[in-house]
Amino acid sequence: MNQPHSALDTALKHAMRLSGQHLYAGRLQAPLGGKTFPVSSPATRQPVGMAADGDERDVTAAVDAAVAAKSDWAAMSPRARGQILQKAAASLAEHTEEIATMLALETGKAIRTESRVEANVLADCFEFYGGLGSELKGETIPFAPNMLVFTQREPIGVVAVILPWNAPLMLMAFKIAPALVAGNTVVIKSAEEAPLSTLFVVDLLNRTLPPGTINILSGFGPTCGGPLIADPRIGKVTFTGSVETGKIIARAAADRLIPATLELGGKSPMIVMEDADLERAVAGAVAGMRFTRQGQSCTAASRMFVHRSLCEEFVARMSNVVNAMVMGDPLDERTDIGTIISAAQLDRVRSYVDIGRQMPGVQTLQLSSMPEASELKDGFFVQPTVFVGVSNDDRLAREEIFGPVTCVIPFDDYEEVISMANDSDYGLAATIWTKDLRRALDATQRLQAGFVQVNQNIVAQPGLSYGGIKLSGLGKEASMEAMLDHFTQKKTVLISRE
Ligand code: ADP
Repeated sequence: MNQPHSALDTALKHAMRLSGQHLYAGRLQAPLGGKTFPVSSPATRQPVGMAADGDERDVTAAVDAAVAAKSDWAAMSPRARGQILQKAAASLAEHTEEIATMLALETGKAIRTESRVEANVLADCFEFYGGLGSELKGETIPFAPNMLVFTQREPIGVVAVILPWNAPLMLMAFKIAPALVAGNTVVIKSAEEAPLSTLFVVDLLNRTLPPGTINILSGFGPTCGGPLIADPRIGKVTFTGSVETGKIIARAAADRLIPATLELGGKSPMIVMEDADLERAVAGAVAGMRFTRQGQSCTAASRMFVHRSLCEEFVARMSNVVNAMVMGDPLDERTDIGTIISAAQLDRVRSYVDIGRQMPGVQTLQLSSMPEASELKDGFFVQPTVFVGVSNDDRLAREEIFGPVTCVIPFDDYEEVISMANDSDYGLAATIWTKDLRRALDATQRLQAGFVQVNQNIVAQPGLSYGGIKLSGLGKEASMEAMLDHFTQKKTVLISRE
């Protein structure tokens, strides 16, 4: 591996120290059932460590800890909580390299293009929410002259956080930083595929936060996540993952009548009009499709609608850019594109690639090149793939693939493309590239998505409300409103003046 040895060695040492542990009540804890499961590098298939395989007993103990911590935490002044979060942010910023190396090692996300970027967003998110303590305000309501009426925001209590593997640290931060500053305590269930980097971060946070405020379990969905959301002491669940599991979570939340925030899938359209700045649009397509993350992003621009007059040139230029990208060892600074997360995901992606290759009239472009190093020969690598000429009705354009596979769909007419873009079960993100301001504004009004961009394709950031409509989910994350709307409950107080 081409990382300085010290970074990798340090990450492996941390992995060993954290192996087979949960963290709750302020310290590392062995799983009460005594079971663990292995974690290995998706690039080399070499062991990284072990993860605790949590079950109902661990859930009960972790929720006990969160319940025990909640009154003192809620009783602190919001600004004081915010200051603790900002101290935590500073400590995360100091450890960015170690965090990024752990993430790259465990998930295969390339260190330079992905893991380091994510580690920085993690710290930034704590910094952002740490500054929002004093925004937990209520209102006074001039209801009647003989009454003083006001609202106040209170923490919900204990929040269950169920994480995915694709951007585990960023998405953990989007959920726990607002929950904590609002005065809640949290119990996290990490993703099976990314348990150690999240545990590493929680271990760092735990040095600054009071014991029991932040707790994390690893384990499998039905046996660890299931009991967590079913625990009667949980007051709110926040989840990112697949639509199927999102529906299971929503049903479980409905059974207990607790609120749920759900960030689910996407099949995001990117529209390139005939007057677009092609060079910028191509760069935006490569960034928007998250080729550097092997397309494993809910907002991936996986339906590219390109005006017929530009289609050939767009595809040629995008192919040139992606062909020049280096796929390889996630820990190597020269690598642009790392791996798929797991064998199961790799099989799924390959099965979609096979569907496209067998479709008559569809051109298949397989870009970049497979790594040659012998230690990577069993890694979960797949070439970025572009299908040209797919119809918006085909499975490739309707189902979320969650891999580096995109469809280029030519169009002739603006009305036609808006209707195709909206013809999807999902509604997470959308972009349009045009120099025509009137058309750009019209599109922002008509595109059915929660995150719409014109002439750019940036990722979700602290400060911007992020979340989808239709099957893409319920609720917003990453902004001040997300904290207020999703991690507090409002009380109305009426005081008689008589
Ligand atoms: P994927 O299939 O891509 O791994 P999932 O939506 O199944 O995505 O997983 C996202 C998260 O949801 C993971 O942490 C997983 O363990 C958890 N999960 C899966 N099934 C359940 C369930 N029945 N109850 C609670 N959590 C679950």
